[in-house]
Amino acid sequence: MSVFAAAADQSLCAPLPVLGEDVLVPLVTGGEVGYAALDYAASAPALKRVWDDVAAYAPYYGSVHRGAGYLSQLSTDLFEGSRATVAEFLGCRPGDQVVFTRSTTDSLNLLAAALPADCQVFVFETEHHASLLPWRDARVTYLNAPRTPAQAVATLERALADREPSPSSQLRSSRGGPIGPALVCVTGASNVTGELWPVRELAAAAHAHGARIVLDAAQLAPHHPLDIAELDVDWVAFSGHKLYAPFGSGVLAGRSDWLCGAEPYLAGGGASRKVARRADGGVDVEWHTTAARHEAGSPNVIGVYSIASACKALTEAGFDRLVAREQHLVGEVLAGLAEVPEVKVLSLFGDDAPRVGVISFVVEGWNSSHFAAALSAEYGIGVRDGLFCAHPLVRTLLGSDPGEAGECGAPEAEPGERSLNAIRVSFGAGT
Ligand code: PLP
Repeated sequence: MSVFAAAADQSLCAPLPVLGEDVLVPLVTGGEVGYAALDYAASAPALKRVWDDVAAYAPYYGSVHRGAGYLSQLSTDLFEGSRATVAEFLGCRPGDQVVFTRSTTDSLNLLAAALPADCQVFVFETEHHASLLPWRDARVTYLNAPRTPAQAVATLERALADREPSPSSQLRSSRGGPIGPALVCVTGASNVTGELWPVRELAAAAHAHGARIVLDAAQLAPHHPLDIAELDVDWVAFSGHKLYAPFGSGVLAGRSDWLCGAEPYLAGGGASRKVARRADGGVDVEWHTTAARHEAGSPNVIGVYSIASACKALTEAGFDRLVAREQHLVGEVLAGLAEVPEVKVLSLFGDDAPRVGVISFVVEGWNSSHFAAALSAEYGIGVRDGLFCAHPLVRTLLGSDPGEAGECGAPEAEPGERSLNAIRVSFGAGT
């Protein structure tokens, strides 16, 4: 347990010392009360800088896109300025749209609702449920868990080459047959193992076979600089509450054609440019062809402003320093865990695979839920236990059968029995 005692030490909870400034001070460190919040992968503590920005804006906020008054104008400027900040943070291409949503889950469901007719979706079974499940109304091919990044690329290439023919399509596969549109959905960093996926290579494979690709960056964005153009992915989705902003806002950014070609995600004010009664008694609607098309209703201005503030804080702090600090911590945690013979760290791509500050493990002879509860009660360390909304992946990593494991977080095994779930420790900027 020594590594956990060390993690509870104030030094790991203190603001990032290498930065020498308060850009990345989390609002809640737990340091003052000797509590180490190490569940960043679920929700990272919002930065004090973000709260300060929101507090400074709060007395002035007004409706956006609707009012002629000064405060409405100010809020509209801040809202649209936040869109520009996020676009810059993501390295968006000219013509890309930044749509504000509620979360990564919401973003991927929005894209799922915007798939063109006859679209085939390819997704690895190892994905978080937010990436795994939204496509079930489309034709989905679930790809088996790869054991190396190269195997992931080869698996995808094979699956794309074997795409089902689509008689109505103008597109031709490399073998000459007609194929319909296709989408690949992949995570940038696993929320279970923290391992990085070969996004650039998967994007190249997708495009070589006439498919599009969406990157689930929920776990990547808080840890690595992102560049849509450089990665050559078509869309990126992420959540504010994992990027040191408060809950309630997310982003879907990328190509506008599928988004503009689809029905609005929600129908209502803000999404519609013109609405008129028809002679036959019905209603004609002309929808916006910008991000507004999928942002009907009064938007979450504070949430959007918070995301932009967090993007600015991370950019100012500099990802090179963040990555260096975090990789140092990853090394320390892995080294500490390696000292405990009963601990097995979970990994898909092998122990040396590059990973962000997300590490899951099991402890022989311990029920993971009891172990996590003991870490909190006895050592003041908050971690997550369970199947992390990635049931198929955790079962693969634990070698358990689909029927064996139950609900997330349920204490499924007695002390001494093989654990059917795992413990996850996760950290990031400000840790
Ligand atoms: N994708 C990954 C990889 C995640 O880790 C999570 C959340 O843990 C999500 C998607 C869903 O994020 P949200 O709950 O913010 O929608």
